[in-house]
Amino acid sequence: MKYINAEKINNLLSKAVNTDQRALDAILKKSRALKRLTLAESAALLAVNDPESIQKIFSAANSVKEEIYGRRIVLFAPLYISNLCANNCLYCAFKADNPLIKRKALTVPEINHQVEWLLGRGHKRILMVCGEGAPEAKSNIDYYLQAVEAIYAAGVGKHKIKRVNVNCAPLAASEFKRLKESGIGTYQVFQETYHEETYRRMHPKGPKSDPDNRIDAVDRAFTAGIDDIGIGVLYGLYDYRFETLGLLSHIEHMEEKFKVGPHTISVPRIEPAEGAQLSFNPPSKISDEEFKKVVAVLRLSVPYTGIIMSTREDPLLRDTLLSLGVSQISAESSTSPGGYSASAEEQAGGQFSLGDHRSLDEIVGTLIAHDYIPSFCAACYRMNRTGESFMQLAKPGTIKGKCKMNALITLKEYLDDFASVSVRDAGSKMITRYLKQLDPPEQAKLREFFNHVEKGLRDEYV
Ligand code: SAM
Ligand code: SF4
Repeated sequence: MKYINAEKINNLLSKAVNTDQRALDAILKKSRALKRLTLAESAALLAVNDPESIQKIFSAANSVKEEIYGRRIVLFAPLYISNLCANNCLYCAFKADNPLIKRKALTVPEINHQVEWLLGRGHKRILMVCGEGAPEAKSNIDYYLQAVEAIYAAGVGKHKIKRVNVNCAPLAASEFKRLKESGIGTYQVFQETYHEETYRRMHPKGPKSDPDNRIDAVDRAFTAGIDDIGIGVLYGLYDYRFETLGLLSHIEHMEEKFKVGPHTISVPRIEPAEGAQLSFNPPSKISDEEFKKVVAVLRLSVPYTGIIMSTREDPLLRDTLLSLGVSQISAESSTSPGGYSASAEEQAGGQFSLGDHRSLDEIVGTLIAHDYIPSFCAACYRMNRTGESFMQLAKPGTIKGKCKMNALITLKEYLDDFASVSVRDAGSKMITRYLKQLDPPEQAKLREFFNHVEKGLRDEYV
């Protein structure tokens, strides 16, 4: 597979088992200073298994995360627009050969309906997701563009979606350019597995069967002007240590070629998917303990990159992972096209089953209870703080001042417009607590924003 040197990864992994305590401490010290780790250093962390050293890794990951992002957690909802697919990924319910699920590509009015539902709950950020297919008479890209336009056009009172990120199949460079022009934020594409033989076995049919075309999607998107890119591994297909070093090798390639790493890393684990036998018994299942270590090692290895956790994971584990480096989470999700609607006709087959069924309000309440500030902010993207200019703020940890301000403004908006009584009370106390921690000029600025919110103004940011 392009950009991935499997032999080098295997050598690093075998050497890493001999890392002694002193070397481990030196790596963690480097990480706490917010420096990028080398592949060998990341391999050393992945080799750690004794509980005491694992705790050291967890505590370093927590402090790096706080240093870069502070205590804000960004919330979003996935919106599945279509489950039509030309591929046959062995782990996914949308695979072409699966006769068990009802197929559907949402129409513009249906998309509008779904977005209105999400807006009505308080969501402001959407991750648009789809299979590699479009309704008849539309090319994939034309369908995707139509959907992005429909999402931004939907509105409920003064509420609109602020940012649409997209997770769709790789496109040609000219199509990526059109996608960028439609106003999307991050483009996500997961390599799934960085182990070539496994990749070929898992993707036997369709355009996705070529691993190099998929890994090159990142380069094509970047060259076409999309400078916020999300990458990821689908954990469970192959050894988690190899996969993590594969992902980190991919990041090294991006940094070398574009001087910018990924905006986000996603760490989905395989969940049961109707009609996809492999998903019920993944070949390289990763345990909760190993998974926590992976998240912490990623946080330490690439301090400046956001880590996304979806509702695939259960509430308890999701809450733990927040302290290890996760910076964005989805809430109250559905993986079915039409899944947010009450009408049975609009609903189609889901991609996989979810582990977290809490409402957005409950998740906001839990975040507040754990002293994390729920954030609905999309300011960076609107202020053109993307790609390299975002990295320049993220790398030294200066983004967190802006993140905190914007998180508190958007939390105040959420509390006033959508929250239950108990969440509103807890959130108001949080706001007062955080306000007191700011220096006087910042306090004054934030109070002014809060006054605006109380007068009905929405969507202000710094
Ligand atoms: N169809 C496009 C593609 O495959 O790139 C984009 C969207 S696909 C619906 C999004 C992601 O879902 C895939 O990249 C894969 O990592 C993940 N996925 C597929 N099946 C899954 C399963 N059974 N459990 C968890 N995640 C899964
Ligand atoms: Fe299609 Fe994506 Fe599912 Fe593969 S993972 S079957 S490409 S929707």
